[in-house]
Amino acid sequence: MKSLQRFSEYSMSTYLLCPRKYRYTYIEKNLKKSKKKIHVNFIFGNAVHLTCKDYYSFRAEERTLENLHNLFRKKWKETGIKQFFGSISEERQLGERGLLMLTNFFNKLGSIMPYQTEQYMENKIKDYVLFGRVDRTNLLKDDTLEIIDYKTTRYYIVNDDEDNERKRKTIQLKLYAFILSGSKRQVSKGSFYHLEDDYFDTIDFTEGSIKHIGIWFEEIINDIRYDKYFDTNVGNHCKYCDFFNICQGDDKEELSEIKNNYSDNNEESDLFT
Ligand code: SF4
Repeated sequence: MKSLQRFSEYSMSTYLLCPRKYRYTYIEKNLKKSKKKIHVNFIFGNAVHLTCKDYYSFRAEERTLENLHNLFRKKWKETGIKQFFGSISEERQLGERGLLMLTNFFNKLGSIMPYQTEQYMENKIKDYVLFGRVDRTNLLKDDTLEIIDYKTTRYYIVNDDEDNERKRKTIQLKLYAFILSGSKRQVSKGSFYHLEDDYFDTIDFTEGSIKHIGIWFEEIINDIRYDKYFDTNVGNHCKYCDFFNICQGDDKEELSEIKNNYSDNNEESDLFT
């Protein structure tokens, strides 16, 4: 039997963000990544995500704001994040941001039981499989599913004239919608819930639009399979790229400008979920 080629949601998003980054990550696997201070944000993001997930394992009467905050404090300790801070006040600052995010989460979603959380899902199209893990789905009144992806990054507005940027921003939700369309229920909505801003950035789906995503998915796979050059796509996201120091960007001028202006002290990675 012919084995199916498998693509994760993350690998496809990586290719769409920058084909060269895809090559460095999935083809030239032995390249040495740069270690960045930004990794504290990944750990922080994980602690918040785990808290949102494990909160629902409490019994209904235990689902209080106080227990949610205590759960976060426990996750905080377990992650070993402490070592990343230079002082207690620095640690407290990020910890308090986490508590604020979870207060928003509690007020908006705390009393709604999710349909699924962090569920591994996959869907097949022709000889390919796309897979991923969706933070959360809610079952809506009309029996359709809403995808919710928690974001610990701040919400930013993308103007209509920045069409490509909007497309880039919503790729993840579209790929999730396609993955979930392999299940019995129809997906009607996908939202990034920006926890700190307490804001849902939502797009709607129809059966037709999801079918279209499947066709698009196949086109991207063909692009990946037949790509000879894996061109660079230089932009602000390069600041957070693990291959920033070794990247031989074709647009060297722009890349070196980003390198010169780079400071990893106070900005957040786009991948800081
Ligand atoms: S530094 Fe930028 S151009 Fe180079 S691989 Fe990373 S994302 Fe792509």
